[in-house]
Parts: sequence; structure tokens; C-alpha cells
Amino acid sequence: MQAVKHIVAVASGKGGVGKSTTAVNLALAAQAAGLRVGLLDADIYGPSIGMMLGVDPAQRPAPAGDNKLAPVVAHGLQTMSMAYLVSDKTPMAWRGPMAGGALQLLEQVAWQNLDLLVVDMPPGTGDIQLTLSQKARLAGAVVVTTPQDIALLDARKAIEMFNKVAVPVLGIVENMAVHHCSACGHAEAIFGQAGGAQVAADYAVPLLGQLPLDIALRSAGDSGAPLLISQPHHPAVASYAAIAEQLREALAQAASELPEIVVE
Ligand code: ADP
Repeated sequence: MQAVKHIVAVASGKGGVGKSTTAVNLALAAQAAGLRVGLLDADIYGPSIGMMLGVDPAQRPAPAGDNKLAPVVAHGLQTMSMAYLVSDKTPMAWRGPMAGGALQLLEQVAWQNLDLLVVDMPPGTGDIQLTLSQKARLAGAVVVTTPQDIALLDARKAIEMFNKVAVPVLGIVENMAVHHCSACGHAEAIFGQAGGAQVAADYAVPLLGQLPLDIALRSAGDSGAPLLISQPHHPAVASYAAIAEQLREALAQAASELPEIVVE
């Protein structure tokens, strides 16, 4: 039996657009839809999924024999992160040479029978990202961007990178799309409007969804209690569920081997 059926990268052209937030919530939404899901934090320079999932910073992965590490299970997800292996105080300069290790990390985890492994990629389109994209047996990639021009420019670069290495871009997630004032409800497109849709149209890939700029998403990430768990009725949760469903369909179409979702 294959330990991991499908690997999907969550990528962005630049940092700070909400890639990790999307990876975490998407992984949880796919799990809620009935898939067995893992999450690999390959963002070597800013590993954050442990924090976002409330993993105790002192926790270290257990050896699983055969030179492998057991994944750390958080909210049902099988997770692995470089942050579980190094301390907060490990300097950036030492992490650099470890960057190639993200791929090694992927292979050294004893993943247990996963339908889907979500990989939170390092931001950008440099050598590290290119190598990971080429070698990680990716079924596809999701590109996260904000509607801001500078982010869109970099999102285009990310799509071009995946095209170059023949990894299907499954779609674009536009994050921080609109902000609703919590006092008066006024909607404001702080980072601009419809940019994600334009890029999606230009490259003929789906716009999988748009997430608001919302304090609940930020505070859920910071507190280690992801929105899907802490506020399951928040409107953004439905958006993540819809994105996860599109992903599942795209993967099933590509491989026709994912299990059917059973609604009880
Ligand atoms: P990246 O992985 O692209 O660097 P993160 O997911 O770490 O980005 O997000 C950067 C910061 O923005 C985090 O503090 C996160 O909580 C916050 N954030 C991400 N998406 C949203 C959103 N839609 N609304 C509000 N805050 C967000």
C-alpha cells in the first residue's frame, strides 16, 4: 500500500500572503471531507504550522524505525516540520544549508496511509522551490496570492515555475480579498479587487476561492486553534470546504483513485 496517494503543494510567489494559513485550513477541510490528510511544513525559513496547530514547541517527533520519524498528530493531521527538529534559536544562516533537507524530510517521515499530503512550500520561486517541485512527486499545486499587484506578479512567477516542471496548477486561492469592518460592516478591498481572478483567467486555471481579510483568521492562526476547529460556523470555513472539494475532484479526476466521501 502506498503511504501517500497524492501530494499537493501550497505555494506562493512571496511571503506573508497567507500560504501557511491556507495550507493548514485546507488540510483540515480535506480531513473534514473524509480524507486522511498529512501536512508537511517545508517552509524552512519560517516554519509555522506547529504554532498554527497548537503543537507544543517542546514536542519532538518519535523515531519510527527504519531511520524514519513518526509524524506529530495535531487535530487529526499527520504533520512534520523542521521546527520540530531545530530550536527557535537556530540561526537562519544554519537553516540555509538545511533547505535541501525539506525533500529529505518528506521522505523520512513514516506517513500512515495518507490520501493527501499538503506541502506548505517555502515562499518564492528560487532553486529550493524548483527542486522541491521537481522531485516531490507532486500531483498538483495551489498558488496563494493576495489581490495586490506585487503579490500577483509573484503569483504569476509561481505558476510559470510549476508549468516549467509540468506540475499541474490546480488553482488559485485569493487571500485577504476583502475586509468587512467589524463596527459598521462596510466592505473594503484593502489589497485591491479581482486580481486573483485575472491571473486565473490569464493562465486558464480555476480561481478556487477567495478568503476575506479577517481578524478571526489571524487570531486563530496565532493561538494554535485553527478556524475550522475553533469557529466551525465562520463563513470562511465554508470557503475552505469548497476549495477542498474542488481539490478532491481535481485529484480524483487525475487519478480516479481517491475514496468516495461517505456522508453519515
Ligand atoms: P505566509 O505563509 O504566506 O508567509 P501566513 O499564513 O504565515 O503567510 O500569514 C501571514 C500572517 O497573516 C499571519 O499572521 C496570518 O495569521 C495572517 N493571515 C493570513 N491570512 C489571513 C486572512 N485571510 N485574514 C487575516 N489574517 C490573515
